[in-house]
Amino acid sequence: MRAVQYRTIGGAPEVVEIEKPTPGPGQVLLEVTAAGICHSDDFIMGLPEKQYVYGLPLTLGHEGAGRVVELGSGVEGLELGTNVVVYGPWGCGTCLACAQGKENYCPRAAELGIAPPGLGSPGALAEYMLVDSPRHLVPIGDLDPVRTVPLTDAGLTPYHAIKRSLGKLRAGSTAVVIGAGGLGHLAVQILRALSPARVVALDVTEEKLALATAVGAHDVVLSDADAAANVRSLLGGRGAQLVLDFVGAQPTIDTAMAVADVESDVTIVGISSTPAAAQVGFFRQAYEASVTVPYWGSRGELIELVELAHRGVFDVHTETFPLADAPKAYERLHEGTLSGRAVVVPSL
Ligand code: NAD
Ligand code: ZN
Ligand code: ZN
Repeated sequence: MRAVQYRTIGGAPEVVEIEKPTPGPGQVLLEVTAAGICHSDDFIMGLPEKQYVYGLPLTLGHEGAGRVVELGSGVEGLELGTNVVVYGPWGCGTCLACAQGKENYCPRAAELGIAPPGLGSPGALAEYMLVDSPRHLVPIGDLDPVRTVPLTDAGLTPYHAIKRSLGKLRAGSTAVVIGAGGLGHLAVQILRALSPARVVALDVTEEKLALATAVGAHDVVLSDADAAANVRSLLGGRGAQLVLDFVGAQPTIDTAMAVADVESDVTIVGISSTPAAAQVGFFRQAYEASVTVPYWGSRGELIELVELAHRGVFDVHTETFPLADAPKAYERLHEGTLSGRAVVVPSL
């Protein structure tokens, strides 16, 4: 089968022919219908050898959708042909965190050698993919896999980040979204669906700001050195109750901290390739502003997102690519010229 692999440190992803996997006990084989491309892939492929921990060659793709085509021994209750999306942050399944569905925070995954598909295990950028347990599949029924696959990360990560702060978003509150790309354009929609907050989106080009407006941002502001002052003047001098930074670079973290109001949450989701950090101390930011860095989301939250998708809540913007053009999609991601999520469709 064809697969897209990262094969050498610093090299570009390559389309290669590898053996089609067969499911072992407890595993499920999917024929991939859609696979999303995340900026985190660009981050890991930019890591120097010393910091790279995902194994080589690595079949990329941690956002996967597929059709169940083969069951390993012992797998029951799953019908062949079922359309599913894959919950990516695999955990052990039995610890307290996993029992609560928070496999993204499984404390045993590393010691047991369990890694997410595309981030240590073979990923979704291939004609077929192995899933380690039917527990990690969420049926999507008749939803379009191309528009649903981004929910597994570009949707799930902001959904989790927003849900933990919903108590701070009342009528009259403001949420700021920095970076209206794959994750950010869904964050805007999740905020609109779940809260009465005014949503202000920041990005670096007019095209990206237009996308943010199209998916529901009330206001947009160019992300430059004056961004914090411009956001505050838009808000009558006040700050935001939730700031989500989907870039995570020093200038955006600085903007995030500067627009955070008293008792707000500053949530840094983006992972910068250059070291960046928020500085917390007296007279640096508003009182009782809390800063956090979340990772992905829970199994239950993905099920909730698919439920919302069935209700037609999301307008997921995608650009599709055949498998052979996946390296081109990564180039576009790196250049920052994609609109919404790049999704690879092996059948194209
Ligand atoms: P993306 O490339 O689709 O979107 C990034 C957006 O940020 C683009 O619209 C870009 O124009 C914009 N941007 C770049 N520089 C900016 C600046 N200075 N100010 C404002 N906007 C700017 O990326 P994505 O796939 O949505 O991922 C976003 C980030 O989230 C990445 O850093 C990725 O690694 C990270 N991520 C983290 C998690 C997690 O669990 N914490 C999960 C997924 C992705
Ligand atoms: Zn990701
Ligand atoms: Zn666990």
